[in-house]
Amino acid sequence: MFAPWRLEVIETYKSTASCILCNILKMEDDEEALILERAEESFVLMNKFPYSNGHLMFVPNRHVKEWSELTAQELEEMMRLSQKAVKVLRDCFQCEAFNLGANLGAAAGAGIPDHLHLHLVPRWSGDTNFMPVLAEVKVLPEHLKQSYKKLKKAWGLVS
Ligand SMILES: [Zn+2]
Repeated sequence: MFAPWRLEVIETYKSTASCILCNILKMEDDEEALILERAEESFVLMNKFPYSNGHLMFVPNRHVKEWSELTAQELEEMMRLSQKAVKVLRDCFQCEAFNLGANLGAAAGAGIPDHLHLHLVPRWSGDTNFMPVLAEVKVLPEHLKQSYKKLKKAWGLVS
């Protein structure tokens, strides 16, 4: 499988002394970090190496590796935020469908195996490959920053 975005993610991960997601959380500039919301237990951000336009991630604030280590509060909040994200993405990008899930462990395809995160990947019909999310680098219709601005604005309007 040729996936250049993955190489880039792994290179970034190796080059930082600590965890890339923990480092993003420490950044002060939300726009630079591509963070849409900093909630109590977790945060929501755009994937810098997206599978499709509007690809979001839900990440516990704690550096947690094992799914079973997540607390009820963390799980609840991440799921609630994913509901909001589906609503916002539908409004902003007219997404027709979504893939929501996690790659638990490097062998499952996790680019950052030491810090759990959920992916929400928007889908459109015509986007017919069963798993283009794993196999292709898509040409993005909008630049990442433009997408961020649009999503950030909409995020503030939905409760
Ligand atoms: Zn971490």
